[in-house]
Amino acid sequence: MYLSKSLYVRGLQCTKSLWIKIHNPGILTPPDEKALTKFKDGNEVGRLARQLFPGGREIPLSSPEKQIEKTKEYMEAGINILYEATFVFDDVMVMVDILQINEDKSVNIYEVKSSTKVKRIYIDDLSIQFYVLHGLGFTIKSSNLINMNNTYIREDLLDPAALFNINDVSEDVIALEENISRHITRFKTLLNNDMEDVPIGKHCTTPYKCDAYENCWGNMPENNVFEIAGLSMDRKMALYSMGIRTFDQIRDFSDLSSPQRIQITSELRKEVIINTRAISRFLNGLTYPIYHLDFESFQHAIPQWPGVQPYLHIPFQYSLHIEQKNGDLQHKEFLAEEGMDPRFKLATSLVKAIPTDVTVLAYNMNFEKGIMKRLALSFPQYSDHLMAICQNVRDLMIPFKKKEFYSPKMKGSYSIKYVLPALVPQMSDAYEKLHFIHNGTEAMNVFPRLIEMDKEERGKYRKALLKYCELDTLAMVKILEVLRDSVGEV
Ligand code: SF4
Repeated sequence: MYLSKSLYVRGLQCTKSLWIKIHNPGILTPPDEKALTKFKDGNEVGRLARQLFPGGREIPLSSPEKQIEKTKEYMEAGINILYEATFVFDDVMVMVDILQINEDKSVNIYEVKSSTKVKRIYIDDLSIQFYVLHGLGFTIKSSNLINMNNTYIREDLLDPAALFNINDVSEDVIALEENISRHITRFKTLLNNDMEDVPIGKHCTTPYKCDAYENCWGNMPENNVFEIAGLSMDRKMALYSMGIRTFDQIRDFSDLSSPQRIQITSELRKEVIINTRAISRFLNGLTYPIYHLDFESFQHAIPQWPGVQPYLHIPFQYSLHIEQKNGDLQHKEFLAEEGMDPRFKLATSLVKAIPTDVTVLAYNMNFEKGIMKRLALSFPQYSDHLMAICQNVRDLMIPFKKKEFYSPKMKGSYSIKYVLPALVPQMSDAYEKLHFIHNGTEAMNVFPRLIEMDKEERGKYRKALLKYCELDTLAMVKILEVLRDSVGEV
């Protein structure tokens, strides 16, 4: 068995995780929908980056031996660009995303990432490739990371040269080489022995959330210190290593913020804590009618339309519940046609639906305001109107984020998915009962796929998207109702 690039990087994060991956992979949590989308995006980005080095040959995925043989064959034939060139040294197998072979036979290594940042983990990734090729006797002229340029804005045609950054990280890669052999020996030894017990720690979520997390963290007692909202991982680990595992063992509260103390007190007493003065202040800042607004958006690493940047949140849907002082409720909604840039039609619909002088309520308003500000920049004809709406947005999340209203059922979270069942128990399974779409990730993944569906399936998913988004703003109406009741407002 060869140690691959990803196994090596996994071992650097945690040797127990590496052991489990090889000897007991069944206990690992499979990738969720979000991770699969990221994986798919990564593949698309990898293929597009090859256009920076055109005319190369791809080593088809087969067995390691065949891939190594093919790589050798192409190199001997004088082909100077290879995609997925495969090499083995010291029982480590690497596949190089793009390998450039120079006239003097020296090589340049290129690793492609769909991220907009240069992260330390990517240098580790390149360093193991450097180690293998260097070990095989290649002269490596440069080690490079190709990543996305988040300042790129697409014009009519996609320009890969401007979409990607090529970062020469040779010095950082070389600096890591001397430790690699030691790491590999350590990994080989531990894989030939029983699993070593690695204590939980910060490394369980950094640089990636470990897929053995459930296995190692699943037996935490109720009200454990890791549930304290907003406390840094370092502080949580410090408490944990002092033997303080649960809320009732905490004696010194001096380092904790007021919302953290409210959470702990509420959980220990099992009672709802309401700061009526703060809630009244929040409610007094709202005028009627209230426009409850929620957007759904999707992101693509590779911009699909002119005026779009990598990973721009592209809104394709909104739901609006308009609430009058007497409780009358009207619902408006927009869901874009599939397969085209949805932004202009959505912006047009939005400015028709929301006047410039009404209270707009969002849950986590930074997201909604961010969407509208970017629409204002893209469509100057609506700029004044959209910016006026932005000025009027209030955030329903704030009372829960500040723990001005806290129920032990919220488990430290202020996400609407926790707040709704805590405040409106009759809606506790409302999201579960929906068909097809139950959360924002499912919505953002489904919308771009509508174009590939047949008419009947598309109809079902469009209906499901509308129902999901409608529930988000209806949930806000119901939550606001409970806030009003809590301070005796009618
Ligand atoms: S959850 Fe943490 S301790 Fe457990 S295998 Fe993963 S990284 Fe290691």
